[in-house]
Amino acid sequence: MTEAWRPDDDDDQRRGSSGPVRVRVPAKVNLHLGVGPLRRDGYHELNTVYHAISIYDELTARRGDTLTLTMEGEGAGELALDDSNLAIRAAHALAGYAGVLPHARLHLRKQIPLAGGLAGGSADAAAALVACDALWGTGLSRDELAGIAADLGSDVPFLIHGGTALGTGRGEAVSPVLARPTSWHWVVAVADGGLSTPAAYRELDRLRDAGTAGTPLGSTDGLLGALRQRDPRVLAGCLGNDLQDAALSMRPALADTLKAGEAAGALAGIVSGSGPTCVFLARDAADAQRIATEVQAAGVCRETRVAHGPVPGARVG
Ligand code: ATP
Repeated sequence: MTEAWRPDDDDDQRRGSSGPVRVRVPAKVNLHLGVGPLRRDGYHELNTVYHAISIYDELTARRGDTLTLTMEGEGAGELALDDSNLAIRAAHALAGYAGVLPHARLHLRKQIPLAGGLAGGSADAAAALVACDALWGTGLSRDELAGIAADLGSDVPFLIHGGTALGTGRGEAVSPVLARPTSWHWVVAVADGGLSTPAAYRELDRLRDAGTAGTPLGSTDGLLGALRQRDPRVLAGCLGNDLQDAALSMRPALADTLKAGEAAGALAGIVSGSGPTCVFLARDAADAQRIATEVQAAGVCRETRVAHGPVPGARVG
């Protein structure tokens, strides 16, 4: 049996980083979230277009004698920092794969709201994989990291890659969307409190059984075509989310948030993923700023932020 490589060995000087490794990782929105039938493994078949936006968590990894996690920002005091945390699970998964000891001191600065439908937990898992890979000098390729990521959660592989990408299977099979280099401008309306993703899927199943959910989204072709153009008005007509009915059913007040964005002149508004965050497409950066101020003033959410996308996935630096 090969002995595990120890971060504190002499190798230390040659492999990995002795100083802190800082990784920035974005939030995601789903420009298209098509939810198919429930599979035998308990997941739904998805057909989604992921898009990484400029709201970031930051994870710093330092050498340590054990594996520890501290945090500040969104969810501090609420989020468990033990083995259930996705950042810790990711560090263990990488160490197991690479045959090294999972020793690191991780610190998370969280700006992505908790249980917001922006995949913050998945983002932290992706950040921990990239940070520990650099800290421990395990030197895995992005595709290898994405392979480990898939076992941690459906959105994690996308957050390793970032950009705009098509997700299939349960969302873990990711292929980049080649689009013109355009920045899209978004207003993100953060709600008070989160929504549970599994509960949103259960609610969608219930609404579908009762025949009260909207028509399931079809193919992503229209959206992919729109992304090739530079006109946000065209993109606006192609955004869609099958989980939106479920999020609205669980949190009816989100209808007011969506209406406020529309009243402020957003080109389109959708619930992000399983919600409760809502995102609005703006014409440009100045328009986004104006819409954010108006939606904030309407008192229909905890706060608004402006963001642009696509941005890269988890990166050191
Ligand atoms: P998604 O859009 O991927 O469905 P979400 O944005 O709605 O997810 P997350 O913030 O990713 O929600 O968190 C969902 C749950 O995951 C949390 O309620 C929490 O229990 C758990 N979790 C574990 N680790 C983390 C983490 N580092 N950050 C956030 N949540 C975490």
